[in-house]
Amino acid sequence: MKKIAIIGAGPAGLTAAYELSKRNYQVDIFETQDGVGGMSRTITLWDCLVDIGPHRFFSSNRQINKLWLEIAGDDYRMINRQTRIFYKNRFFQYPLKPFNAFKNLGPYETLRCIISYGQQKISPVALNGDFESWVTRRFGKRLFFIFFKNYSEKLWGIKCTELDADFANQRIKKLSLYEAIKNGFSGDSAQHKTLVDQFAYPSGGTGMIYERMADHVRKRDGQIFLKTKVKRVIVKDGIAGGVELEDGTVKNYDAIISTMPLTNLANTIDKVPSAIKESLAKLKFRNTIVVYLLVDGEGLFTDQWLYVHSPELLVGRITNFRNWLPDLYGDSKKTILALELWCNSDDEIWNYPDEKLIEIATSDLKKTGLAGPKAVNEGFVYRVPRCYPVYSKGYMEALLPVQEYLSGIENLYPIGRYGSFKYNNQDHSILMGMLAARKIDGEQDIDLWEINTDYESYQESTIITETGLKNNH
Ligand SMILES: Cc1cc2nc3c(=O)[nH]c(=O)nc-3n(C[C@H](O)[C@H](O)[C@H](O)COP(=O)(O)OP(=O)(O)OC[C@H]3O[C@@H](n4cnc5c(N)ncnc54)[C@H](O)[C@@H]3O)c2cc1C
Repeated sequence: MKKIAIIGAGPAGLTAAYELSKRNYQVDIFETQDGVGGMSRTITLWDCLVDIGPHRFFSSNRQINKLWLEIAGDDYRMINRQTRIFYKNRFFQYPLKPFNAFKNLGPYETLRCIISYGQQKISPVALNGDFESWVTRRFGKRLFFIFFKNYSEKLWGIKCTELDADFANQRIKKLSLYEAIKNGFSGDSAQHKTLVDQFAYPSGGTGMIYERMADHVRKRDGQIFLKTKVKRVIVKDGIAGGVELEDGTVKNYDAIISTMPLTNLANTIDKVPSAIKESLAKLKFRNTIVVYLLVDGEGLFTDQWLYVHSPELLVGRITNFRNWLPDLYGDSKKTILALELWCNSDDEIWNYPDEKLIEIATSDLKKTGLAGPKAVNEGFVYRVPRCYPVYSKGYMEALLPVQEYLSGIENLYPIGRYGSFKYNNQDHSILMGMLAARKIDGEQDIDLWEINTDYESYQESTIITETGLKNNH
């Protein structure tokens, strides 16, 4: 029986473990944290279940949905999505609806938007490979400024001219002003529900899926070592053969699947060439600080989450867990909100004490007016390091040599969000785990680096029906 080590018990690592243990491999999972699920875990807070910020599951890929349903069974609900942008004390529906947007902007600003959109049709800006020129050319300077600039710069911590157009390709390629206006005319009732309108949510929170996967793995004699950090992967003569844990223990394996940050993985390999080290130094991650606030009252606002574009606020997104599965709240008359702050590891704010972060979030919440005079009872801080791989302009030039170097190491499979430096959602990481297992088993030989680069097929416009994922093609 072949023994496989898996670093990380997030969606990618657990899916790989689940698939491999089904095929009778012996799997050992090493996880730094005290629970499974990675960034997609669910925690208990003030007697309620909450996720690490908003986590909606959606996929137009049949095999991913099939696996998800295999685990969830009937224990999920389809949730009608409502998310809006909070900007200049107004709410803009998101995805943007032209009439709602123009009503909120007023006639003068609307005219400016139309003129600047027209200018791009007559004399478009040159595409420079950056996010700003990509979006401006498609929507016009004014719409770029209002709806893309502030939020993107808050999230990524760099100017939109320094952000790679790949980010736009991946996340907003399908957005077209013409389509949006056309849909605006046809009215909501005439439309089919799509992945934009509804999403599946497990009745025990997002992390339920991964806790169940972990249970399946344990039942098939797989082992999950929590609070156990892998220091490095041991590579000898170009073959990965084991892992060294932080306490110095060395364990040998036939193959290693790594979902730990790509930079940490590659930097700690013995004799990594200096050119690769130089490339690795150029790959940056962004962190999230999630501040949970327990607020009096039930109907603060109706969205599952709000995007906070206002540049004067530090907070970038606010999740209202009451609007996901209200059942998870029991009789409580309070609401848990999660406010996200984004930063780099060397920013002062990353090391602020919890009380100071709770103060910042509480003050920002007050400024939005969303909670009115309602009291904030308590706060809790959860830090998520390296959760956003930064697609800075030209990042692929640094990433490609690293991919090539790691591909040259036999029996090593780097996958996952920070594990492969891809801006993955859960579904991408699930797919990576599934395909890594098939590759190890010799069932399907695919280039794992190619997953989540086919932006064409990543569409939220897929139609879903009342039965949700089951009839999804
Ligand atoms: C705020 C936020 C909101 C999000 N919203 C959504 C959403 O709405 N929909 C969606 O689908 N996705 C969403 N995501 C993305 C989703 O969380 C990730 O895509 C998914 O969890 C990635 O899975 P993964 O297994 O690749 O990585 P992770 O979930 O990060 O798992 C990696 C695991 O490896 C462990 N690890 C790291 N280093 C080591 C080491 N040296 N030794 C041992 N263990 C190690 C980590 O502790 C972690 O548990 C969101 C993410 C964030 C941060």
